[in-house]
Amino acid sequence: MKRSKKNIENLVSIKVKLHPTLAQQEYCNKLFGVVRLAYNSLLTKNQEDYKQKKTKYNFYDLQKWFYSDFLKNPDKPYINEHNTKVLKQSVVNFDNAMTRFFKKQGKYPVFKKRHRYNKAKFLKDAISKNNLKDGNLHLTRQLKDVKWATSEEHSRFLVDNRDAIQSITIERDKTGEWWGAILFHTTDRLPSKSRAKGNGQIGIDLGINTFAVLSNGEKISNPKFKRSRIRKIKLYHKRHSKKQKGSSNKEKARVKLAKVYKRMTNQKNDFLQNLSKRLVCENQAIAVEDLNVKGMMRNRKLSLSIQELSIGEFKRMLEYKSIRHGCRLVKVDRFFSSSKICNACGNKKDSLSLSEREYVCESCGHSADRDMNAAKNILKEGLRLLQEQGQIGVP
Ligand SMILES: [Zn+2]
Repeated sequence: MKRSKKNIENLVSIKVKLHPTLAQQEYCNKLFGVVRLAYNSLLTKNQEDYKQKKTKYNFYDLQKWFYSDFLKNPDKPYINEHNTKVLKQSVVNFDNAMTRFFKKQGKYPVFKKRHRYNKAKFLKDAISKNNLKDGNLHLTRQLKDVKWATSEEHSRFLVDNRDAIQSITIERDKTGEWWGAILFHTTDRLPSKSRAKGNGQIGIDLGINTFAVLSNGEKISNPKFKRSRIRKIKLYHKRHSKKQKGSSNKEKARVKLAKVYKRMTNQKNDFLQNLSKRLVCENQAIAVEDLNVKGMMRNRKLSLSIQELSIGEFKRMLEYKSIRHGCRLVKVDRFFSSSKICNACGNKKDSLSLSEREYVCESCGHSADRDMNAAKNILKEGLRLLQEQGQIGVP
């Protein structure tokens, strides 16, 4: 593995997929419950004090409570089934949250809810020396041989750096999937999952209904924005427009609206970033249509969805990422009729209405999904252009 020039040690985190057995899941679920219980008990305990004196416990008081009261609670003997060091993280977390609150860097801590907070952090001293092998994770006595998986590069990296592991956080997410976040000190550069360069060539048909249809048959739908978020935007818009100009209420409404918008924009950006990166890494050549986004925007009904989809933004990302990752991006002229040409025989239809979702060729009888046919034509034309420019050899 390559060493970075400056040899700087940094903390690196790798997330791996976990496949715990049913018994392991059951154990972890119980553990998460006790982790929440410790945190919530501290919060309850502290709330009274905070209301009366506006002060927080110091860390030593918290620790004392943890060892003498919490762990030795005669009504809850099951607490003792769990690793003390793991449970103690709740004390650390609570203290951090309170410290942030008093430094005005965070809100007053809230109770950890069962359906939202399902994780436990295992620090180095709570993890077995035999921590990690190919496909097997050893944490504590109760959690042995947990199956894990990640990309080949990251797996190798993890096994190579197993002595530098600082902590492992086990989590069950809202969808019920299990993850392990592994944190370690290293001077090595984290191998990028995408460094392995694909040899593909792909044509992309960008659209309104489906975000992208690829010439290899893959369809990529638009990111689904939460209905509740869209409802909120509409509501906040309405409220904002009703408030008196220049009033502080109008400003408050504006901030609220901006926040929901921001969340939606972030979601959209993540989608565009991930997709463009993947395509650029998987392929040597990418062909897209040089769509006239401005022309499409004139249609008012479409303008909102165009803004949401950000075809222009996506192509801009493809452009700079192609350069970075050594991929050839070619734009096919917008007057090239990608939709009207038959990909099988090259026959061109005089007209094709937007409602015709299936392309059926009158000449050779070939039938295909309309967008797929277009994507294949875009690829064909793109490769022709690249050959013309001498950028690729004849396939
Ligand atoms: Zn045909």
